[in-house]
Amino acid sequence: MAKYVYFFGGGKADGNESMKNLLGGKGANLAEMAGHPSLRLPVPPGFTITTDVCTYYYDHKRSYPKELKIQGEKALAQVEKIMGKKFGDAKNPLLVSVRSGARRSMPGMMETVLNIGLNDVTVQGLIEQTKNPRFVYDAYRRLIMMYADVVMEKAEGVDLKGGKGVRRMLEERLEQIKHQKGCKSDTDLSTDDLKVLVAEFKQLVGKILGKPFPDDPLQQLWGGIGAVFASWNGKRAVEYRRIERIPDEWGTAVTVQSMVFGNMGDDSATGVAFTRDPGNGESQFYGEYLVNAQGEDVVAGIRTPGPINEHSKNDQSRHLPTLEEIMPRIYNQLFDIQRRLEKHYKDMQDIEFTIQNGTLYMLQCRVGKRNGVAAVRMATEMHREKLIDAHTALTRVAPNQLVELLLPMLDPKAEASTPAIAKGLPAGPGGARGRVVFTSNDAVAWAARGEKVILVREETSPEDVDGMHKSQAILTSKGGMTSHAALVARGWGKCCIVGCGDLEVADDNKSFHTKKGDVVKEGDWISLNGTKGLVYQGSVNLVDVNLEQNQAYRDLMKIVDKVRELKVRTNADTPADARKARSFGAEGIGLFRTEHMFYGEGSDKPLFLLRKMIMSKTLEERKAALAELFPYVKNDIKATLEAMDGLPVTIRTLDPPLHEFVPHSQDKLEALGRELHVDMAELHKRSEGLRENNPMLGHRGVRLGITYPEVTEMQVRAILEAAGELIKEGRKAIPEIMIPVTCTVNELSNQKKIVDRVAAEVRAKLGVKIPFMYGTMIEIPRAALTANRMAEVAEFFSFGTNDLTQMGFGFSRDDIGSFLPDYLGDKILPADPFQTIDQEGIGELIKMAIDRGRSTRQNLKIGICGEHGGDPDSVKFCHRVGMNYVSCSPFRVPIARLAAAQAAIEDAAGVKAKASAKKVAPRAGKRPAAKKAVKKAPKKK
Ligand code: ADP
Ligand code: MG
Ligand code: MG
Repeated sequence: MAKYVYFFGGGKADGNESMKNLLGGKGANLAEMAGHPSLRLPVPPGFTITTDVCTYYYDHKRSYPKELKIQGEKALAQVEKIMGKKFGDAKNPLLVSVRSGARRSMPGMMETVLNIGLNDVTVQGLIEQTKNPRFVYDAYRRLIMMYADVVMEKAEGVDLKGGKGVRRMLEERLEQIKHQKGCKSDTDLSTDDLKVLVAEFKQLVGKILGKPFPDDPLQQLWGGIGAVFASWNGKRAVEYRRIERIPDEWGTAVTVQSMVFGNMGDDSATGVAFTRDPGNGESQFYGEYLVNAQGEDVVAGIRTPGPINEHSKNDQSRHLPTLEEIMPRIYNQLFDIQRRLEKHYKDMQDIEFTIQNGTLYMLQCRVGKRNGVAAVRMATEMHREKLIDAHTALTRVAPNQLVELLLPMLDPKAEASTPAIAKGLPAGPGGARGRVVFTSNDAVAWAARGEKVILVREETSPEDVDGMHKSQAILTSKGGMTSHAALVARGWGKCCIVGCGDLEVADDNKSFHTKKGDVVKEGDWISLNGTKGLVYQGSVNLVDVNLEQNQAYRDLMKIVDKVRELKVRTNADTPADARKARSFGAEGIGLFRTEHMFYGEGSDKPLFLLRKMIMSKTLEERKAALAELFPYVKNDIKATLEAMDGLPVTIRTLDPPLHEFVPHSQDKLEALGRELHVDMAELHKRSEGLRENNPMLGHRGVRLGITYPEVTEMQVRAILEAAGELIKEGRKAIPEIMIPVTCTVNELSNQKKIVDRVAAEVRAKLGVKIPFMYGTMIEIPRAALTANRMAEVAEFFSFGTNDLTQMGFGFSRDDIGSFLPDYLGDKILPADPFQTIDQEGIGELIKMAIDRGRSTRQNLKIGICGEHGGDPDSVKFCHRVGMNYVSCSPFRVPIARLAAAQAAIEDAAGVKAKASAKKVAPRAGKRPAAKKAVKKAPKKK
């Protein structure tokens, strides 16, 4: 017979901590605390109904398997025996709570009902037992309130007119009575007040919901259980699962547990605590409690909770007595238990406890959530304390959490007390504050006056880059996570919020207003939390982070670098970026975009010369322009090669379509006309000639070099001379020349001839040997498919996964915003393929290209330089498919390093698991057969 119910209590438990999938996190940990021989903590007895029942419930029109009732009754009898009480008994009634609990914790997303089993009869019995009528009526009014809300309204899908829930209405009545009686707190209400309140509540519930509050304890119990299952598909829970990517199929378990009461008087209390400080990671017991209260009061913020000890005091609670002071014996017991729990679980625990008449009970424990700073500190300190080994320490920090260590952020305390005025997509993490400007020019001008500004625009374009750079942060009302603003900000590690549909920029570009009605004018201060996508009015304080001073971070990264096999490079176009990236541990540059020098600060002259070259008509004109441009390109490259000091630097030849550089403004066009000695009509004609219907697939990348070999030649000469000069000066330089947008080996051979000739010339001119490599981007599906041919000429591949994804899917990167949300919402795609490599499709192309490439050239060096290079899941993929390195924006370098180390650990664990699996069931067959078997195996969850 299927087992649907797992009992715990009295030092025993059917389940344990490893059964989270079946019992939910809460149920499994309650079983562990109650039953594990080395714990056997004081846990009120109870039982957990499995997640299988939840699945059954939804598959069978919200009904239960027939065995459930008998198994439940049996478990309830066991609980009754231990407690010496009977559920629904008139003399000595047992009360229970009905609690939700999924595999992974979803705090506050599902329902819990306390004090089940009270009615007008059992109330008398409980008063008899406790001699505490005040407490009993307090428990009763809480039950009615919660039950009406959770079971009778929400689970039933009742939609009350006026939008106010029954709970809110009952709370208002409670407030009224408190007001009439002149009571500040719930605890000031007398027994008689509460008695009247209970009677009123029952009446009100009947009136509001059109159904009476059920008096039958068993009906209450099953109603509660059903409501918890129903809450799995409540709106809040569903939304939370979307965000946290928790599968809908998991379902929740339900735990029925005998009640203990923290609201029995001044020797009773309830609280939550952490075995270490979750705010900063310090190894200090940390927590809050309330005297004479039931569990939910602490979280609900009805009264300000007190600190459990000195360490836990904050500005709001400083004046309150600590638990350590008022109940020293209990505090010591709790302190001892939390130490044991942390040792047992080998991780920071978040615990709930209740004290009933001087006796301590444990109600919950789970691995505690923590911020990035705390995660790093806990991991390294637990490692130092020998609680966990080095590999485990690495798995304790989510790579993306490192972002929090790198960027200044809004002061969390200040943020907590300021309401946000708008919310958008968190495109660039960290915090920033500044005065609002609406154009790039204003940003530049204001910044030049020493103002801190935040650039607010509908969207940004390459022409805004200067202003974006000068701004503290960027805020756009349109665009997605791969919009121009998002990409640029991410590259710089700049705080940025995009797609903030809550706000609308006024037509005159002088103000914006929010949906809520706030109006922000040019020059007003705003503050952004780019990690969460929140916009605040006014100037919120920033707190700085200094990596070098962060010992825990340095300890962690030491382990990281020992473990990882994948190298991590950076995408950098300037010496400043290069230096920043090196300080974050970059081991080279994986993508240096030559065209960068034509944007932003100091670009006027080279851009003018480039335009001159573009608008040239004859070879002579073009060569003359190129000759003028040459020194700029050479110096630009040289400065970055120098900053990288002998680490490899992959330099990509000119990539964008030329028309992108044609000036739009009249005065710029006129200047160009004068320079080229042509009139405006001719200039317009030449410009028109460059216009393309589909520039992304047009005359760009290597195609420019094929049409204009002199353009390639100039760039190659600049690269090699820059390197050669450095070498002559006694420095080191390792350039790697990378040809973009290739689709056939013939393009590579064609350009290689230029490279070989120029290399010989430079060598003769400078008299030094220049070590360099020649390779290509793989970003067009045909290049991936013909990788064996490409590798005949290319010495390295660098996967340009932005374009490979674009062309592989046939999704325009710039237009995906109009349909991607539907694709994600309807689960047509599991994730944005521009953020995380689509392993199933694009990943196959990559694997194939690696296999084919290396079949031609065994030591082919392979990396990735798309945005994916800084995405942890994608980095792990790159490790598994055998790349040599990933390259990402400077601020993501530490993240990629950690992800690479985790990939190596997972890899080793996978190999071990496979080896032991083989022992059990040896599988014959050679590699191809084994490969097939792998493909057929169900996908890992
Ligand atoms: P959540 O998952 O939202 O934290 P819980 O199931 O933990 O919900 O319950 C909410 C509150 O009720 C908690 O503070 C918990 O301590 C309290 N609680 C739950 N069951 C009991 C019980 N049997 N006795 C006393 N308090 C309880
Ligand atoms: Mg809880
Ligand atoms: Mg590209």
